[in-house]
Amino acid sequence: MIALTIALGILQPSDPPAFENEELGIVLRRLPAGIKLPPPGEGSKALFDIVGEEKKIQGVAHHIAGWPRGRGRADSWEALVKKDANTKSLLRTREEVLTPPLGEAVRREWVWEKKDGRAGMLGLFFSRGDRTLILIAFAPEESWEQARATLIELTEQVEMHHVWMCQACGGKAMGGTATCRACKRSFFPRDDRIREFSRKFEIQIVLDPSRFMPVGDVAGDEPARRDAEAFCPMLAREVKKYPDEFFRRTDFGRIILCQNIRFGRPMAGKVLAFAMYHPEFVMVIDVTEKQKFATIHHEFFHFVDFLPDYETKDAQWTALNAKGFRYDPALWAEALLDSKVKGFISEYSRASEAEDKAELFACLMMDQKRARVRSRDDEILARKLARLKEIVRDFCPKMDGEHWKSIDR
Ligand SMILES: [Zn+2]
Ligand SMILES: [Zn+2]
Repeated sequence: MIALTIALGILQPSDPPAFENEELGIVLRRLPAGIKLPPPGEGSKALFDIVGEEKKIQGVAHHIAGWPRGRGRADSWEALVKKDANTKSLLRTREEVLTPPLGEAVRREWVWEKKDGRAGMLGLFFSRGDRTLILIAFAPEESWEQARATLIELTEQVEMHHVWMCQACGGKAMGGTATCRACKRSFFPRDDRIREFSRKFEIQIVLDPSRFMPVGDVAGDEPARRDAEAFCPMLAREVKKYPDEFFRRTDFGRIILCQNIRFGRPMAGKVLAFAMYHPEFVMVIDVTEKQKFATIHHEFFHFVDFLPDYETKDAQWTALNAKGFRYDPALWAEALLDSKVKGFISEYSRASEAEDKAELFACLMMDQKRARVRSRDDEILARKLARLKEIVRDFCPKMDGEHWKSIDR
């Protein structure tokens, strides 16, 4: 009993972590024996250095924003080391896709032949939203087995969180935090149906966008309090249609509610919402729009489409269309009416393959019956529905046939 108490005492979550950076949402809970994280030397852009006993382990951790994420980031880093003047060869020996509770991580190992000898090397590429932590460490080949075990232990202590910003004072906090440390305001909307969703996936629901806009080219005004608050339970109802896995994978960190949503540069037509990937993973939605429920799902699908490589060209999808068909990017979002053109669920579907898929997905999430009826005499649409379900299931295996049945009204 005493031993258990001590063990629990050691693992108290209130123990200060070995490393914590709230501005970047990075935490290292505990350090393996013998590992130290000295602050980086002057002029270094690193987060921290990594030093092991007798300097046999050396390493460094960096934070980087933008694409690619996870494995793509590991690839570009690997290419960089191969080009380095000190590198004779770099041989990848192992790759593991890790499953952290939040975010996406891959761990790679190499034999690194340098001009001054051979070393074992290990890298962790941990992404959350559009940001990645790159942790690299190496040790001479003769001490690698020991070093490797220590470094694996180290990588298992890493957490990446979304970074929240207080709507009232602009203070930063780790995603999921209940109240702002500076001004004591709650980070959660009043509606407790949306609170659990917000906390669990570290998705900040922003009711007052003034501090957050513009985000990229998108601007909008503060919505009326009653519109924003009425939106929350409806959002809670819609997100319940998804398995947890969906939000773990899409990995966005913020939903910004606004009104009079607009684009910084002039656009052909009206906008309803945006799913953004840069400068951060965020969804912006106009809560005064009639189409807002379908729009939630439409925007969610854009995240599915963009991961993992920020690319929405899809030749396989385009090939489902009738011969000679071309998407028309000049079509704009207000054309959400049923399409009179065969093969498309709405007018806006004809804007691009990304919009085509997002529109069909929104229709499936809102009204499967409509999708069934519309595709009954429309072979192209029927093929697209089947393909879309495949894409969704590949992205999130829990969204299978059973899932679609369970949310069919
Ligand atoms: Zn605050
Ligand atoms: Zn769209």
